Amino acid sequence: METQKKSKKLKSQSTEIETYHLKRECLYCGEPLPDQYSKKRTYCKEVRDESGKLKQNCKGSYNRMIDQPELEVHREIIKEHKTVDEMIEAMVAKKGSVVSTADLNAYDIQLSASLKYRLSRNGTLESDFLKYTIVSNPNLNTHKIYSNG
Ligand SMILES: [Zn+2]
Repeated sequence: METQKKSKKLKSQSTEIETYHLKRECLYCGEPLPDQYSKKRTYCKEVRDESGKLKQNCKGSYNRMIDQPELEVHREIIKEHKTVDEMIEAMVAKKGSVVSTADLNAYDIQLSASLKYRLSRNGTLESDFLKYTIVSNPNLNTHKIYSNG
């Protein structure tokens, strides 16, 4: 009985010899994938420990990597700048295209939140937002708003 079991196990192992002629690799970790894997399979097999807990799940890890986190950060940045642009738009509609620092503060527009800024030789500061550029004159304490459109 015992020997029969053993030989059966050996046989099933011998049919699982893996070859790597196709040179396929896991999309996530880059490990070679055996040719015996289905052609649709692009990741390693899941590895579970004795209690059934997932130890390695390249497909899940890959999908998580794609979903996050930089894309999420970019989305947040764009969202934030859209709202800054909306504030600038609202401010220009009320106050015109030349405003004071107090106006910027009242609309919660922070020049430091700009995408890019340039300091020019005459001391003005140009802050670029998605849709607007604000040119600030520290001597006059005024900010002129240009539409980038
Ligand atoms: Zn893998």
